[in-house]
Amino acid sequence: MSEGLIERRQTRAVRVGEVFIGGDSPILVQTMANEKTYDVPKVVSQIVNLKRAGAELVRVTVETMRDAKALPGIRQGLNDLGVGVPLSADIHHRGTGLALEAVKWVDKVRVNPGLLAFGDGRTETKDEYTPLEIEQRHEENKKALEPIIKSCKERGVAMRIGVNHGSLSNMMMVRFGDTPLGMVESALEYIKLCEELDFKDIIVSLKASRVSVMQGANRLMVKRMDQESMDYPLHLGLTEAGNGQEGRVKSVAALGPLLQEGIGDTIRVSLTENPINELSVCFDLLQALGIRKEKAEIIGCPSCGRTKINLEPHLNELKKRAAHLKDLTLSGMGCVVNGPGESADSDYGFIGLGEGKVAITRGAEQVLAGVNEDQAVESIIELIKADGRWVDPPKDVV
Ligand code: SF4
Repeated sequence: MSEGLIERRQTRAVRVGEVFIGGDSPILVQTMANEKTYDVPKVVSQIVNLKRAGAELVRVTVETMRDAKALPGIRQGLNDLGVGVPLSADIHHRGTGLALEAVKWVDKVRVNPGLLAFGDGRTETKDEYTPLEIEQRHEENKKALEPIIKSCKERGVAMRIGVNHGSLSNMMMVRFGDTPLGMVESALEYIKLCEELDFKDIIVSLKASRVSVMQGANRLMVKRMDQESMDYPLHLGLTEAGNGQEGRVKSVAALGPLLQEGIGDTIRVSLTENPINELSVCFDLLQALGIRKEKAEIIGCPSCGRTKINLEPHLNELKKRAAHLKDLTLSGMGCVVNGPGESADSDYGFIGLGEGKVAITRGAEQVLAGVNEDQAVESIIELIKADGRWVDPPKDVV
């Protein structure tokens, strides 16, 4: 697992079921089921598919007691299928009772500081708070959170303090504005409540739908945690990113710079699509930054008027057949202008030489020339096999 040149922020390792978030653990990729949690067969089936697609933690909505009571069935259903994946329960409005039920069955519980005590942080309309009122609100937060912390502590369950820009409490907005600062103060209040009870299995998230707000909040959070000597891991995500290309680009624009700065211990890309689509975006982002390597690195030129081969289908075939060779870098180049240079940086590749003909390369060495372009990928695979570097693709197991 290469971390490239990125110096990751030092965080404590928080155990979530069988995995750890933070510390030296790889940045964990997570997603969220969107089936109704009370519909056990459907949600189990979705979680199995998410796990198969690479999910390392799956969050489920716990909106009602019906959802909370479905959790043991979900756990059992997964166990029966031999699927081990950490589960997180997502709790929002006045969710203390729900969290106390959920914590019996999951590995992590997510609470939203803006909503846990007050239900809807924005229903309150006051535009100023006296010191006494601030203290009262704090006590209400404590009353809502304390039993959950105690239960998490007893059961070895982690907690995510998940602040959303869109659901800050009215008091936080009045005191600190609808700003990254308000988000950070909201998280800090809950962190301190956890610390008062000597509970440190905490992961923090500060999500927003605007890239600049999300980034600003996370950078400020890191600064404040450093000042307070806190080393809690961060979960990164851009909420409501949308779907399609825009959703992916927005998410990558938000998460990429933070990850490059060494911020972030687990990520989710939130798309208005089947959640299974989120996983490849996360893994591709981590791979592009050199943080995780889950498949072969593929180099391909865009092709231009100089090439005399049909590059794209051959590159697609190379990906399809050899992407599982995650220790290798493979290349497909259209012509000799940049071909030899780029190929030299790859382990194996092909370069368009003339009309329908390619050369096959191993590093900087040209191993074969005049190969029919339709044989390019097969020739590369034969060469990899001859070199003893081929492994068969993994079976589709959970
Ligand atoms: S390598 Fe050759 S074909 Fe590919 S973009 Fe460069 S000049 Fe064009």
